[in-house]
Amino acid sequence: MTDKKFVYFFGDNQTEGSNKMKHLLGGKGANLAEMANLGVPVPPGFTISTEACVLYMKNNDYPDGMWEEIDKNIDKLEKSTGKRFGDPDNPLLTSVRSGAPISMPGMMDTVLNLGLNDDTVKGLAKKTDNERFAYDSYRRFIMMFSDVVLGIDTSEFENLIQQKKDELGVTEDTELDTEAMKELVDKFKATYKDKTGSDFPQEIKQQLQMSINAVFNSWNNDRAKKYRQLNKISDELGTAVNVQAMVFGNMGETSGTGVAFTRNPATGEQEFYGEYLTNAQGEDVVAGIRTPKPIKSLKENMPDVYRQLDDITQKLEQHYKDMQDIEFTIEMGTLYMLQTRNAKRTAAAALKVAVDMVNENLIDKKTAIMRLKPSQIDQVLHPMIDPESELDLLSTGLAASPGAAVGKVVFSAEHAEEMANKNEDIILVRTETSPEDIGGMHAARGVLTVRGGMTSHAAVVARGMGKPCVCGCDGITIDMKKGQFTAKGYTVKEGECISIDGSEGKIYIGEAELKIPTVSEELETMLQWADEVRKLKVRTNADTPEDATLAREFGAEGIGLCRTEHMFFGDDRIPVVREMIMADNKEDRENALQKLQPMQKDDFLAIFRAMDGYPITIRLLDPPLHEFLPKYEELIEKVKKLESEGGSQEEIDKVNNLLRNVSALTETNPMLGHRGCRLGITYPEIYEMQVKAIIEAACELTSEGMNVIPEIMIPLVSNEKELDFVKKTVTQTAESIMKEKCIDISYLCGTMIELPRAALTADRIAKGAEFFSFGTNDLTQTTFGFSRDDAGKFLPLYIDKGILNNDPFAVLDQEGVGELMKIGIDKGRSSRPDIKIGICGEHGGDPESIRFSYEAGLNYVSCSPYRVPIARLASAQAVLQEEEED
Ligand code: ADP
Ligand code: MG
Ligand code: MG
Repeated sequence: MTDKKFVYFFGDNQTEGSNKMKHLLGGKGANLAEMANLGVPVPPGFTISTEACVLYMKNNDYPDGMWEEIDKNIDKLEKSTGKRFGDPDNPLLTSVRSGAPISMPGMMDTVLNLGLNDDTVKGLAKKTDNERFAYDSYRRFIMMFSDVVLGIDTSEFENLIQQKKDELGVTEDTELDTEAMKELVDKFKATYKDKTGSDFPQEIKQQLQMSINAVFNSWNNDRAKKYRQLNKISDELGTAVNVQAMVFGNMGETSGTGVAFTRNPATGEQEFYGEYLTNAQGEDVVAGIRTPKPIKSLKENMPDVYRQLDDITQKLEQHYKDMQDIEFTIEMGTLYMLQTRNAKRTAAAALKVAVDMVNENLIDKKTAIMRLKPSQIDQVLHPMIDPESELDLLSTGLAASPGAAVGKVVFSAEHAEEMANKNEDIILVRTETSPEDIGGMHAARGVLTVRGGMTSHAAVVARGMGKPCVCGCDGITIDMKKGQFTAKGYTVKEGECISIDGSEGKIYIGEAELKIPTVSEELETMLQWADEVRKLKVRTNADTPEDATLAREFGAEGIGLCRTEHMFFGDDRIPVVREMIMADNKEDRENALQKLQPMQKDDFLAIFRAMDGYPITIRLLDPPLHEFLPKYEELIEKVKKLESEGGSQEEIDKVNNLLRNVSALTETNPMLGHRGCRLGITYPEIYEMQVKAIIEAACELTSEGMNVIPEIMIPLVSNEKELDFVKKTVTQTAESIMKEKCIDISYLCGTMIELPRAALTADRIAKGAEFFSFGTNDLTQTTFGFSRDDAGKFLPLYIDKGILNNDPFAVLDQEGVGELMKIGIDKGRSSRPDIKIGICGEHGGDPESIRFSYEAGLNYVSCSPYRVPIARLASAQAVLQEEEED
């Protein structure tokens, strides 16, 4: 015998466990012990520890001494209840319930009424003077035992019940009389024998042993294993087994069973919320066999019990300092509690409960901050599909940008804009999107693409715009010629309605009801508390005054990335931009740029105004120039069409000229091609124009009394000489404008660190750069050598096979990309200690990456406007998590 203890008693003032022992007793067992310690009425019982389970699994045998301990605890339980296992005059009945340290679907279900056999059922009938109740309990036991312990399909038994009801012409289980129950018991036993080849076990100890084995074994069933693997739960935890004296909710109309929440789990409202059934046992409420009654009607039917229940649940909530989800049973007017745990809740409820509990002095602000998952903020801020609506699922893809949208399907950006101008709600459906689709995306309610990952153009732009987007939905096939797409046997024509859910990555046919949440007072409060704690600044990625204004409302403290290329796509600009690109000499190019400059200046004026007093990082032009030209294939089509329709030679020449330029600019690998500062070096006049626009706008607003803080950012630098070269253009241009206007703007000039070489030589680069911003999209792309537009073809498999845990474009790869960042930070600060460092990739809004950014010592993160509140919360949590670990 070992001296290890495997079994812990609870109830009847002899409780050995507590809530602190979840690891050993499982969640259910620990909370039963805790309730007993609190003096809450809990039927007594005992818990077999998770350690016993682990040893049983390991040795394929019970640990030494476990059964002796169980026998002793059975003795105790018999004394405490005054009943005995197998005693025909006064039988002890128990439930056998599994309970792991972490609540886990896929584990063994509960067996109720264990202890009944052909003798004890008679005793139970006599003692309770309720024969129907005794046989009802027995037939329940046989069915649960068969199902849970031996895996016999419950439909075998349910069919027999249905047959009986049909025979008697009744609809409810409660209408089955004693005779019917007795007959069912016989039939159930026959089914058991038929299925197993043995008689239903009459020996109580055998019933118990088989049930305990079944709980232990369920720890390693496929469903449970798969669940643990997916949720990264250790196989070493094991499950506990609770053996507990039965209390009976099926003893007539003064008995019942129910579940309740201490607050409304959907809204967080302070109201006792729940359901119950009279004359019913355990699972009947959840199983949906009968429609339960709202808990309010218990107040009328059994006012004393209701009052007691209300008191107990309030006491539990005060004790656990969190909303509880409880199970109770009433046996002939006496209330028993059977379970309590922290309640699952919607995002809205999580927020409200956390804030309310601070106001009720139940928890402190820090606890409240930790209670809300950053992803839950997403859910409270975006329209959602009404969970009540029943729509057919068409397909699933990546949940690329949260929120839901409903609209008519449109396959081109142009058409999208046309329809939107007619006030139609539309969903833009594309194979993939490109910068040319921006207008259409803007006009659409939501975007759906067949190809592309979490950082594909569609995903990034949609998130930036706060539009719902489902990407990489390869279950649908677009047929542009027929103007339709097909999925799962459905054909959806242009103009037909679909609904997309960008939070779940789902597409439905038809119009879903949408529910639109507002930024609630509670969210505001919670975020202010987060601001008191966090140390990272939170900026936004914004290219338009609208986005900048929105981000300010969400609490952004500046812009971390203002991309200038989107400004080139306006209807009035794109012809001039093309003129600039196709100019074959410097003079023509400068002429075109001169036309663009006032437009750019207007852009900056508007954005600066929206961000008065906050820093604004403006990235000079980054993408390869051919992105501003039409697609090669489209031009070929156009020429063909013009020729066949007899278009003028002048027109045909024009298109041909475009074609020549497009093909001259075409690159095999544009991501690694002629872009970023490489453009600024080959065509300095482009950056010159942009800097002029920036500084002129800044001067104008400064003279109006505004505080403009521009930070000019040079993209795709890999070598300090590139930076020096471009910086000279920037400085000279800025100086000359400031001199001309006689205004001094304290602007900064810095660079993105988005290439491995830049990170590795950051000490040299920092000599010329006044700030760094990690462009983690490109840095991920170049560190892995994954093209982000093509990685969608293999990334899902990589994740499925466990080669990668996450999409590195969505969750920062700390081991690789993160390591390069650390090198960049260290080296950068070694030559410029006060250098300002931020992150502006998509990762800036991801909670895990935010935590990494905080720990790596960044000054700020920057993310799309809708993610600003998430980043505020996540960066507060990063501080609190660090405090906890210290
Ligand atoms: P689950 O984890 O699936 O909720 P439980 O072990 O909590 O499983 O039990 C299932 C049902 O059986 C619950 O409604 C519970 O209240 C009821 N139940 C469990 N043990 C007892 C008992 N000793 N007496 C009466 N009802 C019980
Ligand atoms: Mg339960
Ligand atoms: Mg980049």
